[in-house]
Amino acid sequence: MSRIDSPETGNDFLSDPQITQNLALLQKIGVIDYINNLNREIHSFKSLFRGALDIFNRTTISDIMDAAVRQISDHFLPSFMVFIWANKDDIVIKGYKNYKQADFNLNIQSIAPFDSFFKTFPSVIGFKQLTSKLGAASVFMRLNPEIVIPIPGPAGLFGLALAGPKLINEEYKPSELVYLQELMSFVSQSIQNHLHYEQTLRDVKTGLFNNFYFMTRLNDEIARVQRNNSSASVIMIDADKFKEFNKNNGQLAGDKILESLALIIKMGVRTEDIPSRFGGEEFSVLLPDSDRQSAWAVAERLRQSAANMKVPWDPPLPELTISLGIYTFGPAAGQTGPAAAEIIARASEAMYLSKERGRNRTTVWGAGLMTKIELMKLDAEITGPV
Ligand code: GH3
Ligand code: MG
Ligand code: MG
Repeated sequence: MSRIDSPETGNDFLSDPQITQNLALLQKIGVIDYINNLNREIHSFKSLFRGALDIFNRTTISDIMDAAVRQISDHFLPSFMVFIWANKDDIVIKGYKNYKQADFNLNIQSIAPFDSFFKTFPSVIGFKQLTSKLGAASVFMRLNPEIVIPIPGPAGLFGLALAGPKLINEEYKPSELVYLQELMSFVSQSIQNHLHYEQTLRDVKTGLFNNFYFMTRLNDEIARVQRNNSSASVIMIDADKFKEFNKNNGQLAGDKILESLALIIKMGVRTEDIPSRFGGEEFSVLLPDSDRQSAWAVAERLRQSAANMKVPWDPPLPELTISLGIYTFGPAAGQTGPAAAEIIARASEAMYLSKERGRNRTTVWGAGLMTKIELMKLDAEITGPV
């Protein structure tokens, strides 16, 4: 008995003696064509499946688009591809010419008109056909793509993919259009996975990282400083007299100023730092590869930016100050061994000392911070870098 194991070995089946003896008959009644078609279909499913795996393994939206372009280029060769997607309030554009990233200056403010169009026609469409039905599509006129592929999202359109004519100047086959549409549904799923994962790491109100992610990264960093004989710092930040602020200005004004404070913290640290909302009106920042001096500089910059922060509100809001505490750990700082809970406790202890010493200031946890009496004596030293 012969069997077909895979499209690639399908021809073994055709070389079976019983088949060869009856080949003319099998060909005549269409069995061979039928099998070959099945083989082609299996081959294209396998390739779609491999493409999906590649796309699902990517962890940023930009990488997901790279993977999609790579998969498409295994099938046919569009002269260019441009992805356009909405990211919060921004429109992101990523283009490729001959499979290399290229800039396309497109002036597009919103994908909303396409959203309502593709709700009614949720599949790939020729550009000429699209412009005849939807005036807004003329923004792509200069680019003159051949086809437009919707990238669906859970609540309407996530984005669009524009593909130029094929390099060999041949029409897109219907099977290729189906393939593109199927591939985009994987792109869409992968983007949604990515966005959901991102959300699980973020605090909803401020968009900063949440406590869970902060603690995870802190534990990673504890291990890393040991391996590299380096140091890292944690800054704890607490809004001063915030209960009073809410009482005087209202809870909504309080919410608004917390959001602005979060933005200041986010903008005031490096991309490799982990700014997070520790809870309530408390924030924490993990600074990998950083000693006391550099943590001090960051903390003081944040403190000054917070005090100078202007938040548009009617009536105008009073200034909000913050108190900060720093703890630096790791072999290079001579603080080897503390666990995450201890690191947080020490940075918080330093922060509470800033409160006791009059608020709107930074305190570095140091040996002099053992008791309050010692602290009073060492006040001058611990207010500066240790
Ligand atoms: P201190 O200077 O000692 O830190 O005084 P405080 O009033 O800031 O400290 P306390 O811990 O007594 O009060 C914190 C306040 O922060 C109480 C709480 O209602 C408020 N708060 C916490 N989270 C939020 C929030 O998301 N929005 C608003 N508007 N207020 C919040
Ligand atoms: Mg607090
Ligand atoms: Mg407070």
